[in-house]
Amino acid sequence: MTNIAVLGATGSIGQQTLQVVDEHPSLFSISVLAGYHNGALLRDQALKYRPQAVFITDAATYKSLQAELTQAGITVLDSWDQLAAFLADVDIVLGAISGAAGIEPTLIALKLGKTVALANKETLVAAGDLVAEALAKYGGRIIPVDSEHSAIFQCLEANGQPAKILLTASGGPFRHWAKDKLVGIRPADALSHPTWDMGRKITIDSATLMNKGLEVIEAVRLFDMPGEKIQVLVHEESVVHSMVQWVDGTVMAQLGTADMRLPIQYALAWPKRLENTFPTLDLAAIGTLHFAEPRWEDFPALNLAYKALDRGGIIPAVLNAANEVAVDQFLKEKIGFLTIAEVVATTMQAFQAEGVESLAQLQAIDAEARAKALTICAGDGL
Ligand code: NDP
Ligand code: MG
Repeated sequence: MTNIAVLGATGSIGQQTLQVVDEHPSLFSISVLAGYHNGALLRDQALKYRPQAVFITDAATYKSLQAELTQAGITVLDSWDQLAAFLADVDIVLGAISGAAGIEPTLIALKLGKTVALANKETLVAAGDLVAEALAKYGGRIIPVDSEHSAIFQCLEANGQPAKILLTASGGPFRHWAKDKLVGIRPADALSHPTWDMGRKITIDSATLMNKGLEVIEAVRLFDMPGEKIQVLVHEESVVHSMVQWVDGTVMAQLGTADMRLPIQYALAWPKRLENTFPTLDLAAIGTLHFAEPRWEDFPALNLAYKALDRGGIIPAVLNAANEVAVDQFLKEKIGFLTIAEVVATTMQAFQAEGVESLAQLQAIDAEARAKALTICAGDGL
């Protein structure tokens, strides 16, 4: 039996993780669940899976569930302080919190030498050095859940280090929109993704192509490849989840349906492959696959991620923090769609590429970058 801690259980990835667990009740059990605002769903999940502990880091949600879940024999906690104690019997930590909020619990798990199935790319973008240090020092492991990185991981397993990574991108809902129409994009337009059904923040990131930018940085962290060897390819069918190219020019790809339950299941069962119980890929029905160069000038967020990698140090963390703020402001209709990348670029310019050595230092930079980005959103800096 593999005991799993699901951090971000109430989100899109978290819920799909529990669906995978439901498919294989004799293989997987839930020891820890963590949620934030969605108390109703977290309550149902806790009563269904009966974990040892539930972490609720939002104060109001914690208050609303504490008595009932405690009475049901479940330990209920409101901060990550005691996470380490409850990870002792856990085999895999599924990291599906969105945003930089996932950094702290991920580092706690890695410092216990745990295997982390990581969906939360922002942790690798913002805290890549701290994660690398924890991996080297405590012997834990990260198995990527992000579909592209799962694809690359699966290609690499048999074959070692490639010459190049070909990272596929759906291109988002606006990939065919004329440049002059992009300025008028509203949250409702951006929230409908053509091929993937995901949480709100990552859906906006997909529309700006910042998601692909974050994934370039994620790939650098996961696979020890420099940014210039990671090529983004727009592939609108989202069937090829990514590819690697060897020194002889041969390309190896991983293909599948656009269903996150597959990379989640792969990460949970690794190194085994489980019999598939979800819809299978029908290539004859799909017929044709397309590949194209990204529209770099119309979607500048992608290039900002390469710039952040070039500058190094805290700049990827600044990019991530500014982007989280800008996406939130766009969803609240305080700034326009094209302003998201401008806010990120201007915030990045305000910081020097220094390094950080501790989580506390990183959190201070993250807070400073958020404050700066918010000021820029308010119109002061643009
Ligand atoms: P969702 O927004 O659907 O879910 C986010 C989860 O994190 C929820 O459980 C939410 O709790 C919790 N959460 C949010 N803020 C906090 C916080 N401050 N402290 C603790 N918990 C918090 O996101 P997704 O599931 O779509 O994405 C999760 C991560 O996986 C992201 O990093 C994303 O980039 C990555 N990812 C997602 C993919 C997808 O298909 N969805 C694909 C590849 C990667 P609550 O709902 O209770 O408020
Ligand atoms: Mg992805």
